[in-house]
Amino acid sequence: MSSYWDPHLERMPLADLRILQEDRLKSMVSYVYDHSSFYRQRFKQAGIEPGDIKSLNDLTKLPFTRKADLRDNYPTGMFSLPRSSVVRYHVSSGTTGKPTVVGYTKGDIETWTESLARSLTSIGLGRDDVIQVAYGYGLFTGGLGLHYGAERIGAAVLPMGTGNTERQIELMQDLGTTALACTPSYFLHMTEVAEKMGISIQDDTKLKTGIFGAEPWSLETRKRIEDATGINAYDIYGTSEISGPLFTECINKSGIHVWGDLFLTEVLDPKTGEPVEDGERGELTFTTLHKFALPLIRFRIGDISILDNEPCECGRTHPRIMRILGRTDDMLIIRGINVFPSQVESVLMNIPEVGDHWEIIVDRKGHLDLMMIRVELTESGFSDKIGDLIKLKKNVSKELKNVLNIAAEVDLVEPGTIPRFMGKATRVTDKRKL
Ligand SMILES: [Zn+2]
Repeated sequence: MSSYWDPHLERMPLADLRILQEDRLKSMVSYVYDHSSFYRQRFKQAGIEPGDIKSLNDLTKLPFTRKADLRDNYPTGMFSLPRSSVVRYHVSSGTTGKPTVVGYTKGDIETWTESLARSLTSIGLGRDDVIQVAYGYGLFTGGLGLHYGAERIGAAVLPMGTGNTERQIELMQDLGTTALACTPSYFLHMTEVAEKMGISIQDDTKLKTGIFGAEPWSLETRKRIEDATGINAYDIYGTSEISGPLFTECINKSGIHVWGDLFLTEVLDPKTGEPVEDGERGELTFTTLHKFALPLIRFRIGDISILDNEPCECGRTHPRIMRILGRTDDMLIIRGINVFPSQVESVLMNIPEVGDHWEIIVDRKGHLDLMMIRVELTESGFSDKIGDLIKLKKNVSKELKNVLNIAAEVDLVEPGTIPRFMGKATRVTDKRKL
């Protein structure tokens, strides 16, 4: 059983959706050309005028935009409207260089809220739910984004923000939280803290739904979370540039529904910028169709995924993107081989003795790249017998090598050794860059 927030739009026949997309694309291209000196200049450099975009097939004629463009035009050089039209800013922290600033009109906030209202409804949430938002509030888009969407569907929102884990668990019990939104790594930490408090998430709380995102996580981690806590764990997606968290899976858990009336989605070969074949992995690229303070044309997100244009069993016709594999800039190149941290995660989470926390350390000795993977064991997996540990280490190394095609040094450590994170987990330290 699936219910819809906006049944007409969510189940729109594909042919009608394409017509709507085409109309909106043409308007959007004229709009940015008329309102933004940044886009006008870009289009001129590419020899393109709004009149050249006659159908969706002309999308590939348009020039790309990237995060670097937002940084280079810091703070608001890419905006299409003056400050008087902006009702909110969010700012993402700059891990490499300047931060990026995004802005919203009142209508942009409305679109964002409606997008999440559709998504939260698609995972079965509604007015009877208590949604605890443990994403960061403030400059980060996660907290406020979820908050508005959750209020829109009539749920009661518990705006916790990050951290203060014991209090999160107490209030979860006292107010009967039924859904929790946070990073998957923080939820794993929360379950550990609950256990220490003598509380079982499964037996002593009403939690039934997890809305997890803001960092890539694997299917194996989902299975672990669901087996250990009895909840349904759903993937949520969005980046601050395109608004913030916007899309989730539906109850079928077969890909994240990306609302086609609001965004055009492309998956491109990261090297050539050409669209990949259907079902192939590549770099997600979005064009906003209904966003006005900071519209983005062919914005290359840097996340790696796969696009599925087939309608979903739930009845929704909008395209789906598969679980994010990682970011083009998360991809480690080790001795010439591409390694995604998510591949390491999916191997480790299949080994029962391995706990929920791990990290990758990359270094270089002479001209040789070295990859070390520190793996925390579970209480029961951690043995006093050296022989058992050696055997386990061999097994972990072998499983990793099968998937990564490269040997890694494995270091098994005691439970509680590896740092925990309240927000996005930092699982990779690349000493080659330090
Ligand atoms: Zn669906």
